[in-house]
Amino acid sequence: MRYALISDVHGNLEALQVVLHHIDMERPDRLVCLGDLVGYGADPEKCIDIVRERTELVVAGNHDWAAIGKTDISYFNPYAQAAVLWTQKRLGNFHRRYLEKLPLILQEEELLFVHSTPERPEEWNYVFSRVQAAYYLARLSHRLCFIGHSHIPVAFVFRGGEIALVTGPSFRISIEPDLRYLINIGSVGQPRDGDNRASYAVVDLAEQVVEVKRVPYDIPTAQRKILKAGLPEVLAERLAYGQ
Ligand code: ZN
Repeated sequence: MRYALISDVHGNLEALQVVLHHIDMERPDRLVCLGDLVGYGADPEKCIDIVRERTELVVAGNHDWAAIGKTDISYFNPYAQAAVLWTQKRLGNFHRRYLEKLPLILQEEELLFVHSTPERPEEWNYVFSRVQAAYYLARLSHRLCFIGHSHIPVAFVFRGGEIALVTGPSFRISIEPDLRYLINIGSVGQPRDGDNRASYAVVDLAEQVVEVKRVPYDIPTAQRKILKAGLPEVLAERLAYGQ
């Protein structure tokens, strides 16, 4: 079984289209989305439509909940808040209902899919450190847990109480039978690791390999649309820097 995973699309149609084009060439059996379909970018409804049509499994992210008034946005930064309010006005009932129904967590075979954390996902906590990763990995009932949320690709590998880190704009890891893995697959629509290319992952269970891959996309067009929509300028600027 081969899975392709995407996360944190954030209404960036240009990035989503290029990533899906590359994923099509990978011929995965299943396509999974780890949430944050909307927020920040200028095409929330089009991105929802594509994800809805193309993916088999989708979980909700904090921006999906924010866009339908399901979560508190007082802890969002001012630009994120502005994007949430803009997105709320933009979504019709059909798209609101779609976001409303998304589950917080899904599992299939030995894989767990969640936007934020495998425990209390609705608190939208981040996993940045080894200590945080160890907490979740020690309690994990699945061998592989895939997350998004931070927009920074990283794999935390749990080996006898120790955590090994695999970082990089892209990486390829072999899955060993006795180890557990918490893997952030990075962001399609707003990468934040200093690399402006869109991120996605391929999981091959037959080969026991996980790969995070990066692809360039048409950033100027995505930027122009953000500015034309009246969204904060910084949301356009940051795409060029991958921040
Ligand atoms: Zn996000």
